[in-house]
Amino acid sequence: MKIKILPIKSSASSSQPFSFDAPIESVLAKESRDSFWASGHVKVEGFVTNKGAGSLFEVQGMVFATVNQCCSRCLEQVTVNLDLPFVADYREADSNAADVYDTTDNKDIYFFSDDEIDITELIWETLLLSEPLKILCSEDCLGLCPDCGVNLNFTTCNCRENKIDPRFLALGKLFD
Ligand SMILES: [Zn+2]
Ligand SMILES: [Zn+2]
Repeated sequence: MKIKILPIKSSASSSQPFSFDAPIESVLAKESRDSFWASGHVKVEGFVTNKGAGSLFEVQGMVFATVNQCCSRCLEQVTVNLDLPFVADYREADSNAADVYDTTDNKDIYFFSDDEIDITELIWETLLLSEPLKILCSEDCLGLCPDCGVNLNFTTCNCRENKIDPRFLALGKLFD
């Protein structure tokens, strides 16, 4: 996901739009490809702005991703739509004026070279930071039986009936 910034490089405060559309695998860092939590498709839209000094650019936009994950109760696959905003500054890697910029706004700073800004890492980090902690296929998903492992949304088992609930045992004594 590379943006060529030459058209706005000599013109302070000018902006240029960009958009990308790619399989989610293409934005993953190679080393995390295997352990990543999702598969699916990602769409990126935004614009890059020349912040005046000619070597500092702000990139902002939205990532729209459709990811497939497993329900944390029953492990069935669930499709989740993510709409995530991102913003970051990119500084030219060989810029001598590096220290004059105000970095107190806590925005992430990335580097670029050859008049080309590669936002792949930024998009990947945006996706990683958004990782939903608990995905459910539905609010009242019944999950898996802890004893035999069947999916209780689709089928029933006899595990619970075979176990006598201690509360009923106590109740039984009352009527003895
Ligand atoms: Zn579920
Ligand atoms: Zn069971």
